[in-house]
Amino acid sequence: MSKQSDIKTLHEQYVMPTYAPGLALVKGRGATVWDADGNKYLDFLAGIAVTNVGHCHPRLVRAIRRQAGRLMHVSNLFYNTLQPRLAEALSKRSLGGKCFFCNSGAEANEALIKLARLWGHTQGRYEIITMRNSFHGRTLATLTATGQAKVQKGFEPLPAGFVLADYNDLASVQAAVNDKTVAILVEAVQGEGGVRPARPDFIKGLAELCRRKNLLLFFDEVQCGVGRTGRWFGYQRYDVEPDAFSLAKGLGGGFPIGAIVTSPKLADVFQPGNHATTFGGTPLACAAALAVMDIIEDERLLDNARVMGEAFMESLKKVAAKYPFIREVRGAGLMVGLVLNQPAKELEALLRKHGLIALATADTVIRFLPPLNIRTADVRKAARIVDKACAEWLTQLAKPGPDDQSARFKHLKLNRD
Ligand SMILES: *Cc1c(COP(=O)(O)O)cnc(C)c1O
Repeated sequence: MSKQSDIKTLHEQYVMPTYAPGLALVKGRGATVWDADGNKYLDFLAGIAVTNVGHCHPRLVRAIRRQAGRLMHVSNLFYNTLQPRLAEALSKRSLGGKCFFCNSGAEANEALIKLARLWGHTQGRYEIITMRNSFHGRTLATLTATGQAKVQKGFEPLPAGFVLADYNDLASVQAAVNDKTVAILVEAVQGEGGVRPARPDFIKGLAELCRRKNLLLFFDEVQCGVGRTGRWFGYQRYDVEPDAFSLAKGLGGGFPIGAIVTSPKLADVFQPGNHATTFGGTPLACAAALAVMDIIEDERLLDNARVMGEAFMESLKKVAAKYPFIREVRGAGLMVGLVLNQPAKELEALLRKHGLIALATADTVIRFLPPLNIRTADVRKAARIVDKACAEWLTQLAKPGPDDQSARFKHLKLNRD
């Protein structure tokens, strides 16, 4: 028996089956990970946009080790030296207001939701407009904000106060506004929703609508923030200034931390007693996030994300032209989607077989989220693996099988455009 199957057996006995994991990974370095049986993979998922400076970056490891030996946690009943420094680093790179720290993306979005409600309370406004195909987390409020029925099913009754509109469709958002509306929450690039960047006219329109109707404009930057799109934050690709945004995933480079960052307008809406968290913004978490931000700056990873993202998309487009089942390559920076005209799970498995980790999302999209310090050689290698896996898939699809795969292939060819 392989070591991986031992791990799997123990896991299945004692861990709730909320996921169906594939590999048992035991070691990582940069953009490479190893499984328990010694197989090596190029990691173009980065823990779903989390290990943005690569696995075990020496500076990040050193910062965490050092702080762990000095002071890990004091609670927010005490000042700690690193929390205000991290807040300053985030504020100065964005909205110029204040931050609240928590531990995850869902919690960060909860904080945005509570902030909007408290701000709108005296006017009796509480409804938040979110987008179809969005993803905002798995708590009751954030799964209600999430525009996907599959995450809500079975958990009804859902909390009140959320209204859905269509992403990239300004008229549908306008139609959703009423006298109870307090805020609009949007992703600059929908990640789970299939790597869909927002159109500039849509974001501009939202900002204009918010100004006219006195609504708050919030961005969920949990996945597309912290350098992922080649800017510090995804909204900075557009000429708008939101009222606040949420962060998590990449902020700690693998250490759990979430945050909201506000403009000065909302900086003092929360007062003592309004919102709280035991773990948010511990010295240890802040040391990790500060190290991540220093690394991004010192190693010029925003530029790297832009340049490598473009290079990767260019090579994928060349690959795409060869295969009838690829519909489109889209993305922003190092958030890249390969859009198929059929379910992507089989291709995800073939990529893995050839040593590349990426994730099928929104059913028909392969999502690539490599670390922001990825190099040209690895980008080329990943594109070669995609080509190889697609070639193998094409052969499989063309082969007449027991479930009549050839019929499927004919259907594919017809659907080419
Ligand atoms: C992952 C994600 C979340 C949820 O973050 P958790 O840390 O899993 O709670 C929220 N919004 C977006 C855009 C995400 O990608």
